[in-house]
Amino acid sequence: MAEDTSAWDLKYTNLDRIRQHRYEVAVIPVGAVEAHNHHLPEGMDVIHTEYVARESCRRAWEQSQSIICLPAIPFGVDCNLLAFPLTIHVSQKTLDAYLTEIIQSLRKHGLRKIVILNGHGGNDFKPLARQIQYELDVHVFVCDWWKVGKEIYDTLFGKGDDHGGAMETSAAMVLCPECVELDKAGPGTTPPFRFEALRQGWIYTSRDFSKLNDHCSASSNVAPDADKGRQYLELVCGRISRFLAELAASPIDTAFPLQTDSNTP
Ligand SMILES: [Zn+2]
Repeated sequence: MAEDTSAWDLKYTNLDRIRQHRYEVAVIPVGAVEAHNHHLPEGMDVIHTEYVARESCRRAWEQSQSIICLPAIPFGVDCNLLAFPLTIHVSQKTLDAYLTEIIQSLRKHGLRKIVILNGHGGNDFKPLARQIQYELDVHVFVCDWWKVGKEIYDTLFGKGDDHGGAMETSAAMVLCPECVELDKAGPGTTPPFRFEALRQGWIYTSRDFSKLNDHCSASSNVAPDADKGRQYLELVCGRISRFLAELAASPIDTAFPLQTDSNTP
């Protein structure tokens, strides 16, 4: 292992290594523990989000030795999935308070560029980013990682593919093939909304997943495929790692994060 390989990973690095670097960017992965159809692990959102965070930080570190990846926060907002046994719910309010104190700690250590890497659709960190930038001298960037390659998502995994569906199964076949029990998978078929506005997506409501089907999934009918999972994860990690490296290299001047004549390369 090269000398500084693990210096980007807060879970595995140590004080001696930390003191040799000046960290500019912190990445906080956030997942969830919830039912994922019958065939995927409950911790799926932790598994894929931690992977995307670690792989993106590992690659970005090659460009800039100033990025630190925090351990993943395992629990998320899951009140609408609680009908499924051992799904764990933490309110957005609690999650925001928890993240606020983590970000306050990072700020105390001089870190002002914070990336929240979210892997669960029930979590929403945009209001937190707005609020905490007003209260603390930090810049918070929020990424829902599964949306990063949205222009190819439908082509690879089918329109309407969602929780516990083709994308997540394909990713799981790459990241933890031993914990995918495909023969147990339910179809993920869901009844449509009765209102056109909700079907078109310009009105939002929270879905109680126990009304969708008995296996807690909303999937397309596209078959999962490890190659597609690999392709999507590669695209996502490539894009996020490039962003992290750019973010690390960019000074926090008065216009940050906007582009102006004075900071255009
Ligand atoms: Zn998931």
